[in-house]
Amino acid sequence: MLGAIEAGGTKFVCAISDEALTIKERITIPTTTPEETLGKVFEFFDQFELDSMGIGSFGPIGVNKDTESYGYVTTTPKTAWKHTDFLGKVKERYNIPVGWTTDVNAAALGELERGAAKGKSSCIYLTVGTGIGGGAVVDGKPLEGFGHPEMGHVLVKMHPDDTFEGVCPYHKNCLEGLAAGPAIEKRYGKKAQELTDRKEVWEIEAFYLAQALMNYTLILSPEKIILGGGVMKQKQLFPLIRNEFQTLLNGYVETPDLDTYIISPELGDDAGITGSLLLALKELEK
Ligand code: ADP
Ligand code: ZN
Repeated sequence: MLGAIEAGGTKFVCAISDEALTIKERITIPTTTPEETLGKVFEFFDQFELDSMGIGSFGPIGVNKDTESYGYVTTTPKTAWKHTDFLGKVKERYNIPVGWTTDVNAAALGELERGAAKGKSSCIYLTVGTGIGGGAVVDGKPLEGFGHPEMGHVLVKMHPDDTFEGVCPYHKNCLEGLAAGPAIEKRYGKKAQELTDRKEVWEIEAFYLAQALMNYTLILSPEKIILGGGVMKQKQLFPLIRNEFQTLLNGYVETPDLDTYIISPELGDDAGITGSLLLALKELEK
């Protein structure tokens, strides 16, 4: 049996599956303190005979095996989880191999092997929700280095009509500070989902997202860019982003047809848990 945890800042999804990735059981647990949440996680997994596990976690997390913070949730704004040895606690409970990466790297892996990027060897998965986070799979492997990508905090130039100062506690007007759900809400005084009819909202949103996507394309040349998260439920954003992306790139590099390049997830809300199960499967195959 494979076990998987998609650990989000709001909720944890736990699932078990066979090696064909058919999910046998799953539960959702609210993210409170590590003790409480992991207590419930262990209660769930204790029922099964697991061969390996995979975890896609909110972060920032330590992913470099040569550093002391490997397996830890590190500088997260969720204070109860700051500097928590998440992976260590799981390994202490279950003496099995455990795959470990970010929630968005896991989602990228899920989409690559089972979703919108099937048949490709690389993709980026960007979630635009409470925050903005991006993961990538390159040559079939989640992209990591001394740490992991933090694609949401890249710098963008301001829209000429936008005077909003930004909400990122670290950088103010980075991409997340200008374009995540809470930034939209603070700029207009209304939740993003209540602004569907306001054309300028989505033009400014697309202006920022397209800049980031252009930079990701220039740096990584991924075969697909998959955009998920609550804000991307505003489907009118897709053509606006593709248009702006095309204008910015100005023909400099050839990309796949943008309708097939900048796309929605195929696995919907299951991208992260599917990717986490794939991490578990890869541990078993090692
Ligand atoms: P999280 O990032 O916490 O996992 P979501 O991806 O749902 O969860 O992101 C929540 C953010 O997305 C909120 O700021 C919310 O206003 C925004 N959001 C959720 N649904 C929609 C929608 N249908 N249209 C626009 N924005 C949305
Ligand atoms: Zn930032």
